[in-house]
Amino acid sequence: MAKLTRSRFLRQMLLGVLSCVCVVTFAACGANQGGSPTATGGEGTTGAETTTLRVATEPAFPPFESQGSGGELEGFDIDLMNAIGEAAGFTVQFQSLPFDGIIPALQSGTVDAAISAMTITAERAQTVDFSRPYFKAGLAIAVQESDTEVTSFDDLQNKRIAVQIGTTGAAEAAKIEGAQIRTFDSAPLALQELANGNVDAVINDAPVTLYAVQSGNIGGVKVIGQLITEEFYGIAIPKGSPNVEAINQGLATILEDGTYNELHQKWFGEDAPDLPETAPI
Ligand code: GLN
Repeated sequence: MAKLTRSRFLRQMLLGVLSCVCVVTFAACGANQGGSPTATGGEGTTGAETTTLRVATEPAFPPFESQGSGGELEGFDIDLMNAIGEAAGFTVQFQSLPFDGIIPALQSGTVDAAISAMTITAERAQTVDFSRPYFKAGLAIAVQESDTEVTSFDDLQNKRIAVQIGTTGAAEAAKIEGAQIRTFDSAPLALQELANGNVDAVINDAPVTLYAVQSGNIGGVKVIGQLITEEFYGIAIPKGSPNVEAINQGLATILEDGTYNELHQKWFGEDAPDLPETAPI
């Protein structure tokens, strides 16, 4: 079972020294720590010790996660996970993985958590645990701008549809009678296929498709107004991981203190809507 990864030896030594100082100045130190919960990994951690979570993400899903020009990770999920770590007392070490490799990595314990605009589904909840929901999304259909035929989900029968492998969009497309499904490793590749006229539609998370269209990353494509699902994103962790508590606690803190709303403003240009405490799955 995955646990919080300890910082390197030297760092621990340094923190050990700090802990000693902490014991000496106990009262002051205690006051300082009051606002920052400690991420505990099952093994007891002292107050001043920093733990690190290895967090997987698939960085081709803007505005949730992508790579800047210098290769650095950026996006709502990246900022959110760092803010959760700050509030809960752990640091985050991101690891980029293909989306369909994330759940296997959680199961084998090579990562401690994943934040990747991952929808909380009943099927996934059989193999991994989820934090409380952190974002409300849903699937949307994208078609070529000139398309007048496809105006709803029912119009997708017998059409050529591009999806990203292992996603809820792929699962939804699989339900459509007569559809020819083309599967891609990332959402931008599926959308490019539509822009190139090689498929009739893409089924993908609405905020991501809208962002691609609005930011000009993809041309000649429009989004059909009606969402075909309502979905909630959660941070995934290995089944039974004790880290769920620290993550949920950090999330609750930043939802309450306005940090979550600031990040929502930063990436979506509007205030965050209310979130349920559990996902309806
Ligand atoms: N929300 C979708 C899912 O969980 C897509 C996620 C993604 O591609 N990062 O399947």
